[in-house]
Amino acid sequence: MENKKEMRNWLDEMNLSHPFVIAGPCSAETEDQVMKIANQLKDTDVTAYRAGIWKPRTRPGMFEGVGEIGLNWLGRVKKETGLLTTTEVANSVHVDLALKHDIDILWIGARSTVNPFIVQEIANALKGTDKIVLIKNPVNPDLSLWLGGIERIYTSDIKKVGVIHRGFSTYDKSNYRNNPEWQIAVELQSNFPDLPLICDPSHIAGKRDLIFDLSQTALDLNYDGLMIESHCDPDNAWSDAAQQVTPDRLIEIMKDLVVRDKTSLKDDFQNELNKLRSQIDIADQNLLNTLGSRMEVAKKIGILKSDNNVAILQNKRWNEILGKMILDGETHGLSEEFILRIFKAVHQESINNQERILKKNK
Ligand code: PEP
Ligand code: MN
Repeated sequence: MENKKEMRNWLDEMNLSHPFVIAGPCSAETEDQVMKIANQLKDTDVTAYRAGIWKPRTRPGMFEGVGEIGLNWLGRVKKETGLLTTTEVANSVHVDLALKHDIDILWIGARSTVNPFIVQEIANALKGTDKIVLIKNPVNPDLSLWLGGIERIYTSDIKKVGVIHRGFSTYDKSNYRNNPEWQIAVELQSNFPDLPLICDPSHIAGKRDLIFDLSQTALDLNYDGLMIESHCDPDNAWSDAAQQVTPDRLIEIMKDLVVRDKTSLKDDFQNELNKLRSQIDIADQNLLNTLGSRMEVAKKIGILKSDNNVAILQNKRWNEILGKMILDGETHGLSEEFILRIFKAVHQESINNQERILKKNK
């Protein structure tokens, strides 16, 4: 897929002086609830009102959404508040109904992006639409699958496209409901700088007290917008209760967020930035040289082990290296997590090289 500038026209045309904010409840529950939240969000920096009509629940027997009647409520929201409306579509029936009810923005949920059949079905049903279509990342940390979803939508002649980063599920318990894995979204953004990128801190966090920090990180990383779940009575919400914030709290969050400029044309800033960037270039070059010479030594060890028929993995030695690096790393202000990631990767590459040597000399 070429990098099409037109992909972000829809956002640029809105001419917003702040990030593009989508907010509203996880699920539309009742007409009163939908209207109450919408009225609290109108005349704020919120541009689009979200509400799930069909809810993909992990286990059966839970509230699965109000269905088509909720689209009438969203119609009322648009008419009475002027907010754009958006909901999740997960098959062609949802698409037809959402189009019939003139929903402005349709999003593809994380559980649908994992399934190319479903994404294709949605793309076919939407063919040529001038509605905005947002594609959430798949539940698993797979950039190609996400890109594949974008390609299926884009090649179905849909030009108003964007993506939503909602984090990735893992088996390990973490502080987040879905790990952000920011680097995946950042890689997507560097491949497609003109594709509007929206962060959904609610589904990353899973709990409301992390929403502010995640939103600020997204803005620091140059995201174009935020999708935040907001409910008039979060604790009693019919889905995702722990992560929703009241409209008042949302307004406070939006007020406290620092929006960074994309860049600055001031001479002082540019000069200082260029100077620091040349230092980074030199440091990166040094890093590469060091990694290269370390690998040469690892290969020599591989030959030595091969000649003496000794196993590659020496756990005791490896644990000693790691322990020492974590301690030394601390004195350089490097976190244990970072040191572990870097050294595990370096170690794996050494093992791969040594394994090649052992196989060759067999
Ligand atoms: C949602 O936005 O309410 C939702 C179900 O999100 P996700 O697809 O990210 O799980
Ligand atoms: Mn939700």
